[in-house]
Amino acid sequence: MSAETVDGTGTSAGDTSTNGSGAGTAVVVGAGVGGLATAIGLRRAGWTVTVLERRASLERYGTAFGIHPTAQTALDRLGAGDVLRARAVPYRNARIRRPDGKVLAALPLERIERRTGRPELLISRPHLIDALLAELDRLGGAPIAHGRPLTDPAALGADLVVGADGINSVVRTAYFGTRSGPRPIGTVAWIGTAGFETGLYGETWGGGRFFGMTPVEPGRTNWYATVPAATTAREVREAFADWHDPVPRVLAETDPATWIRYEMRHLYPALPTFVADDRIALVGDAAHAMTPNLGQGACTALLDAEALTRAVATAGPGGLPGALRAYDAERRRSAQRVALGSRTLHRFMTARRPALRDALVGLLPG
Ligand SMILES: Cc1cc2nc3c(=O)[nH]c(=O)nc-3n(C[C@H](O)[C@H](O)[C@H](O)COP(=O)(O)OP(=O)(O)OC[C@H]3O[C@@H](n4cnc5c(N)ncnc54)[C@H](O)[C@@H]3O)c2cc1C
Repeated sequence: MSAETVDGTGTSAGDTSTNGSGAGTAVVVGAGVGGLATAIGLRRAGWTVTVLERRASLERYGTAFGIHPTAQTALDRLGAGDVLRARAVPYRNARIRRPDGKVLAALPLERIERRTGRPELLISRPHLIDALLAELDRLGGAPIAHGRPLTDPAALGADLVVGADGINSVVRTAYFGTRSGPRPIGTVAWIGTAGFETGLYGETWGGGRFFGMTPVEPGRTNWYATVPAATTAREVREAFADWHDPVPRVLAETDPATWIRYEMRHLYPALPTFVADDRIALVGDAAHAMTPNLGQGACTALLDAEALTRAVATAGPGGLPGALRAYDAERRRSAQRVALGSRTLHRFMTARRPALRDALVGLLPG
């Protein structure tokens, strides 16, 4: 099989026939970063995998993801590290600034690079999805049933069901209830890609607003911004009109038709477990959707996928319940700590009192 698209008639949700390797059958719900990485790990372990994706095709949509060295190691273990590095760019020399351009602190990227021996990487979401699809294909693939929104998880007959279906996960609702759910935090982010390299990277914080710029690929700059109460591109541009160069230029030279408006939400309260019924597991945003401030949404999804599939591979066919418990023990607290850290950083970044912001930034290392 290859990572081809199969239509609705080609694969039924429960149609996950046993493979010849002695490993089990799995349905992965969602073909985002978390779902595709999980499908790769399960295929490497010899499982028969079907991926259900509600969208009719994989959207080539989204801006840049930061890939921390730990997530790069997870991708290496999944076999997709080289494909990632072929499209990613390193992130270095980023600073936190005031709106007048004065540098308040350095983002600790060089410190992370010294400690881990690898730079933080940036890659656009479409390129990361392509890298994962390429690796899935190389492994002989898993059918991806596009245009197949899962509505009834209980009907899935596979040995293992992985909810990788994002913040509004139907797998989570069906098996973990509705107490934890997506909560807006009252901030809208605007994200986009400018058609030139600014050469100046990092984040500028001021008066409840922030503006970030990162490299993403040669000749382009990834940017993101928040402005309380702004509802149009014109209002966003006005809010940053007197900020340091190149902030106004980046906004002026990016066509608003390409901007993405992104309402920040997180999963609250945190889930008491990521696994259920000895055969259900959640990964990525389905398990712990977080605000984007720490840039860890894709990283944590990759770490979940690698940890889950490693546990399943190690345990063997009869050991699924223990493997799920091991996955939960390895990933839940860690991912939820990152989510809490991201939410806390969001509060600092949007602080309206500059003295508080500057004092907090002064505490940052490096
Ligand atoms: C199109 C898109 C663009 C994004 N762009 C950005 C960005 O620019 N910056 C950023 O920080 N984050 C972005 N994100 C979020 C980011 O991808 C995630 O936070 C992170 O990568 C974790 O990924 P995930 O696989 O857990 O969830 P997601 O990336 O949300 O993937 C979940 C997948 O499940 C599918 N799905 C949902 N419900 C069902 C269902 N009932 N049945 C079948 N399939 C279902 C969705 O269509 C989606 O493909 C984007 C997400 C998407 C879907």
